[in-house]
Amino acid sequence: VKHHSPQPGLNPVLVETPPRPLPKGLDPPLHSLFSGPHGQAHWSDDYPDCGGQAQSPIDIQTKSVQHDPALPPIEPQGYRGPEDGAFTLLNNGHTVAMSLPPSMILRGLPQTYAAVQLHFHWGSRGQAGGSEHQVNGEAFPAELHIVHYNSESYANVSEAKQQTDGLAVLGILIEVGDVANPAYDNILNRLKNIQYAGQKVSIPPFDVHELLPGQLGHYFRYNGSLTTPPCSQNVLWTVFRQRARISASQVLAGVWAGSENSLPVPLVDNYRAPQLLNQRLVFSSFPVGECIGPRRPGWGVAAGPGEGRTGPPLAFKREKTGCSLRHNDPSL
Ligand SMILES: [Zn+2]
Repeated sequence: VKHHSPQPGLNPVLVETPPRPLPKGLDPPLHSLFSGPHGQAHWSDDYPDCGGQAQSPIDIQTKSVQHDPALPPIEPQGYRGPEDGAFTLLNNGHTVAMSLPPSMILRGLPQTYAAVQLHFHWGSRGQAGGSEHQVNGEAFPAELHIVHYNSESYANVSEAKQQTDGLAVLGILIEVGDVANPAYDNILNRLKNIQYAGQKVSIPPFDVHELLPGQLGHYFRYNGSLTTPPCSQNVLWTVFRQRARISASQVLAGVWAGSENSLPVPLVDNYRAPQLLNQRLVFSSFPVGECIGPRRPGWGVAAGPGEGRTGPPLAFKREKTGCSLRHNDPSL
């Protein structure tokens, strides 16, 4: 069955949140964390760091990114089916978050970091945007954050989050295509069990590594902050260049921002706008815009039958210089 093609530029991730009857005794009206009188423009009233000079997310302008060839690939360890028990997925009213065991370790960063939790940011149906990070002004339908603390220097996340080198977050931009992504189904299939804020559900261990893009050596790196209050400026950010892809039927929807007893406000648009880069530099582990595919001698020259051509015909169509794949290749 062919999916109905989403309208270009608009967020196809979200289906309508199902209607439900108004509860009888209503809880007090909800304050959205992201918009309105207590929204992101007002966070710095109560949390001064939110008005700081090194905030996240940012719009990554690739023309200003500095290539650092010394940046190694990210090496997740223990991501493939943690042994210590199940995961817990929680609707906290602002996002859906899944706790992660500290046996999940990140290497390839300046220090060793242990996993804490992962969560999502997303948009709303028919609207552009949803991701927190942007690339050259382009937002994506959703973004996954996997939060880690510096376990080499600090005993636990409570201690680490007070420190300037305390946290590291992996950011994975999420696109929508035609093919379902089974790894993301491990989480998205459970949303129906946590429709209301405060609800949680247990998820059997699965291969968290599969949520990551295939190419862990290609990423953007900068120093930033938590993207929700208290906006602490102690996060080493890694935003992968390659995007994860889920299908339009895999939805981040059907969850409410409030409890069963409050007005039914859908949990949507839980992303912060890009913040000023100020004096910061964004580094890339890969040369932006340059060849990442194999350069093969002989490619790119017109080769007829009998001239010893070995590459597939597609390679000739794609590139005349011998580069089979470029970083800015839109097919990635
Ligand atoms: Zn986040």
